[in-house]
Amino acid sequence: MFVIDPPAVPSVAIAYDSRRFPVHRIYCVGRNYADHAREMGAEASGEQPTFFLKPADAVVDSGAVVPYPPGTNELHHEVELVVALGSGARDLDLGAALEHVYGYAVGLDLTRRDLQAVAKQKGLPWDTAKSFDHSAPVSAITPATEVGHPRAGSLWLNVNGEPRQRGDIGSMVFDVPTILCELSKLFELRAGDLIFTGTPAGVGPLARGDHFQAGCDRLSILEGSIG
Ligand code: MN
Repeated sequence: MFVIDPPAVPSVAIAYDSRRFPVHRIYCVGRNYADHAREMGAEASGEQPTFFLKPADAVVDSGAVVPYPPGTNELHHEVELVVALGSGARDLDLGAALEHVYGYAVGLDLTRRDLQAVAKQKGLPWDTAKSFDHSAPVSAITPATEVGHPRAGSLWLNVNGEPRQRGDIGSMVFDVPTILCELSKLFELRAGDLIFTGTPAGVGPLARGDHFQAGCDRLSILEGSIG
């Protein structure tokens, strides 16, 4: 028995399946494409990936309206390949990492860019810039049994029908197995974890009323609008 009603389990749709994927945690990788790191005036990650987290209940289904977040005048899109884990692990071996992947999706790492710039300048945490409510729209997850483990393929985002971001997941600084290994040295990975793997160049603003559409290779399309 709980003293208050327990919160609902956050979840994401699965392609061609009425069942849903329960979300345990959302990990994100920063600066994982050299062209995006450069556009932010930084270097790509060095020997180890840069990680941050979003709350599990930040997920938003494809097709939904994302409320424009309070406290910002500069909401930015970052289109990313998302990895969904079907089983947990600690201290993974590179060769075994992909065995823990349930499937893949496309997500937006929504960012309050103005707050992030202040945080970077002052050396403060990124939480208010990255980890706000509704900051993680995610497409339906396509199981790896359907799509394999994509190593390359176009990653794209259109806003109001116009191209905004164009990249290829083959140009990640750290590939998916490496990300999972490094993450598993720092956290115990669990079934239900989502990992946003970083964005290519072309990040930019989203305004109220904008409609976005994003995809990666043969994965399900993510779309939605800003309320
Ligand atoms: Mn990102």
